Amino acid sequence: MTFKFKQHKKPIIIAGPCSVENEAQVFQTTKQLKTIGKIDLLRAGIWKPRTRPGNFEGIGKKGLKWLVDAGKEFGIPVTTEVANAKHVELALKSGINVLWIGARTTVNPFSVQEIADALKGNNVSVMIKNPITPDLQLWVGAVERVLETGITDVALIHRGFSSFEKSKYRNDPKWGIPIEMMRLFSNLPIICDPSHIGGQRDLIQSISQKALDMNMDGLMIETHIDPDNALSDANQQITPKTLTEILNILVVREQTPSNPEFISILENLRAQIDDIDYQLLDVLAKRFDIIHQIGQNKKENNITILQSDRWFEILKSRKKIAKELELSDEFVGDLLKLIHKESVRLQTKILNN
Ligand code: PEP
Ligand code: MN
Repeated sequence: MTFKFKQHKKPIIIAGPCSVENEAQVFQTTKQLKTIGKIDLLRAGIWKPRTRPGNFEGIGKKGLKWLVDAGKEFGIPVTTEVANAKHVELALKSGINVLWIGARTTVNPFSVQEIADALKGNNVSVMIKNPITPDLQLWVGAVERVLETGITDVALIHRGFSSFEKSKYRNDPKWGIPIEMMRLFSNLPIICDPSHIGGQRDLIQSISQKALDMNMDGLMIETHIDPDNALSDANQQITPKTLTEILNILVVREQTPSNPEFISILENLRAQIDDIDYQLLDVLAKRFDIIHQIGQNKKENNITILQSDRWFEILKSRKKIAKELELSDEFVGDLLKLIHKESVRLQTKILNN
């Protein structure tokens, strides 16, 4: 059985349990997934990198055969996570079709390089999850290390980023990071993993829809015949039946419009946006020019850059205007802080010159 991201129709659907637990669990889950008919790749972890010790750390290499056999029995190619050279060797030897590098491995260039060295010379497809930390360059580096091996069928997986702050997500999606990866690696498909982003069943559908609306190429969703009793990630796993329901509700929108009337309306509106953006930047440039003049005067008169009262007054009065204009309070606050930060930067430069 072969699988190539490059030749695949979109969206690519990857499903299967967080972990291989026993032979029956893999077979029964795969059998039910097969009836859905939309599953392109069967996922399951053999070696589980757990953040804390004492949790289920995976069934180990004996599970490889169960996973490969289940894939063969139901005609679905299979994928598992590899975290070191030994995993790569064992997975490839047992006939796993696609390998993935997990979030806790992508953070470590030594591990990624070890995996890349073991991959060299093999014609296998590889998926690279984002690192657990919101560090774009670590993700870029991992992709580069894998591409340097000569392997070309590479995909990205967006699984969110851990953070200290409490949020409704288990892992904060920080959509800006995968979007930047899509720009940097425009020829590589990107798969969203709503299970690890959400960390709970109820969030899977909305995160999946958002990913499709961001023009991502596929979804990886953890699926288990008995989610409540799963040995890992029980809260976020769903049954194959729930997966079918979600897949039926998701709307796959086109990236490029084909309706001529719509195209013409869109072009017209975009021309207006182009014009307004020009005006926005022009106004900002004028504002910063005045900031420059204020900076010069402050320097000549030995006055501090920041006058807190003035800054608080700006925030208050502008937010009042924003309210009248029905602009979001949070957005205007963020925008003003950004402009203020740049103003302070410019004036610091003048004062220290
Ligand atoms: C997994 O896919 O089960 C997994 C461990 O993922 P991540 O590396 O994203 O935490
Ligand atoms: Mn998991």
